[in-house]
Amino acid sequence: FKARPWQLKEVDTVCGYCGNGCTLTLGVLNNKVETIRFNDKIGVNDGNLCVRGRFGYSFINSDDRLQKPLVRKHGRLEPASWNEALEAMVAGFEKARGEKGLGILSGGRLTNEEYYFLGHLADKVLKTPHLDHNGGECYKGVSEGLAETLGIKASTGTFPQVEECDAILAIRSDLYETHPVFGMVVNQAVKRNNAKFSVISDKKGKFTKLAGTKTLLTKPGTEISILNAMAHVLLVEDLACTDGVEGVAALRAGLADYSPKAVATKTGVAAEIIEAAARDLAKGKSKAILLAYGLPYSAYSRELGIAAANLAILCGAFDGDNGGLYLCGEKANSQGAIDQNILPRAGGMSAQEMLTAAAGGELSALYVIGEDPLASYPDRNQVQAALEKVPFLVVQDLFLTDTAREADVILPAISFAEKEGTFTNAERRIQRLHSGVKSPGEARSDLAIFSMLAGRMGDPLSFTGPHAVFAEITATVPEYKGIDFNGIGPQGVVWGGERLAPARRKLVAVKGGEPLAARFQMITGSALYHSGTLSARAQGPLAAMPESYVEFAYEDAAELGIKDNETVSLKGNGEELRLKAKVGKRLQRGVVFVPYHFAGAGVNRIYHGEAAVAVEVSKLSV
Ligand code: SF4
Repeated sequence: FKARPWQLKEVDTVCGYCGNGCTLTLGVLNNKVETIRFNDKIGVNDGNLCVRGRFGYSFINSDDRLQKPLVRKHGRLEPASWNEALEAMVAGFEKARGEKGLGILSGGRLTNEEYYFLGHLADKVLKTPHLDHNGGECYKGVSEGLAETLGIKASTGTFPQVEECDAILAIRSDLYETHPVFGMVVNQAVKRNNAKFSVISDKKGKFTKLAGTKTLLTKPGTEISILNAMAHVLLVEDLACTDGVEGVAALRAGLADYSPKAVATKTGVAAEIIEAAARDLAKGKSKAILLAYGLPYSAYSRELGIAAANLAILCGAFDGDNGGLYLCGEKANSQGAIDQNILPRAGGMSAQEMLTAAAGGELSALYVIGEDPLASYPDRNQVQAALEKVPFLVVQDLFLTDTAREADVILPAISFAEKEGTFTNAERRIQRLHSGVKSPGEARSDLAIFSMLAGRMGDPLSFTGPHAVFAEITATVPEYKGIDFNGIGPQGVVWGGERLAPARRKLVAVKGGEPLAARFQMITGSALYHSGTLSARAQGPLAAMPESYVEFAYEDAAELGIKDNETVSLKGNGEELRLKAKVGKRLQRGVVFVPYHFAGAGVNRIYHGEAAVAVEVSKLSV
């Protein structure tokens, strides 16, 4: 870093990584982001930034950024003008519409305005119901589950409210890995306010080290049984809030087999700790239930959303002054994607269904935006087959990703640091992004690209920029009604207000998953990075965690004679991975963990979206 602080142009914007939505200040010199620092006077994060937000910015300045469209000619990707790329795109999409149709897969980091326009593009211009974002199944499942039980698809409280809660339950959420600054809020609630804190997870993490935490360490895939057992305790011990609640009798009947004793063997969690965690929730004045969702959480997502909502209703999480149910989406604008309805339309296919259809020759085109399914979606072989088989593939991204290499047309897009518009974070807070640097080369915002494409396809709608699209959003998306784009200040605007009441309270019985009967099973998830599409190109996070690994419990490592950094073979779902071993205290016996965001390591060749995969483990070398 050669710049002096006074040489830098400073621009406040919103971090582009996770749904925490931290405000950060870009320090720019000669159109390069040279520093990122915090501002403790504004935003949701009180000046806190995690390693990704603070140090994960070098991808913005990377020489590897795409700067010009590329079009495949005679089998090779060659630089092309925007005119040529758009012509090829229009021809390819129109042909696809006359054949088996086209699907659109979007990432989780577009702005609200871009998502809104993408929905318009899908419905009115490309006329396809096949639209999804970020892996699909988990988002679709969790949203469906919450819509069914609560009539909403969002967190019901804000982050500061969690700090005021006296009982907190985290489900599959190690926020220190996924939303670190939100994790600090929980930390404050536990340390300052002595909040009773329980964690349901298949691995230990920093959360479980908080003093007094009840760790419900489940066998992978059995979290729903724990949630059911906690609901069972509330009903049986007459601790449940049931006024105005639908479906109480049916849930009581549905939970008959889910007493804590009955689920203890299946889940590996002692009945006493399940009972104690349930009573903590019942006795608290304000309670928060935190539910992580995203690509590595695909299995049972609808049921998981329902079981979490059942428990939130029964423990009265919506009745206190603070807290509620929190959806912790993985990406910076996961909530915005849901708000702008980037989900399959009636009769449309989810992301995974589109890929299956494409692999089977049942889809004529795919349009992939800000997403690298080959690197981050479950079942890499299936994704590879889909990308190879689909007759026409367009990829819009910052980099020449693995997925982009398969494309017929590649469009250079821009990063959060170059964008204007809004993100909506995991507490429903709409925040403004401010552009700090100019786009590299001929790269364009996703909004500009959608607009160019729509114009070429005869769409009469013409927007002059994010503010105009936002005005359209406020006219058509009820939750955003009355919000003025220019009136969104540094603290943002929380749609629906600080406390969002559920539209309904309907209990629905769901069944818990069965644990795998295997000597070893592999789980996956985040570890410092998210999908890795951006952070794995940034020096800060790479310095902290340079390569993938497989993590073992001490007991298993000792039994197999495996030590740190030795190479280990993992075989599962007909594939083999070779990774360095890491031995630690986080895992239970028989469970191994591989982070999902190192594309080169290929964990998604083995991981197909299950809660856990049976694997064979052997040591290869010292
Ligand atoms: Fe960015 Fe999330 Fe870290 Fe905040 S917690 S700095 S939003 S990655």
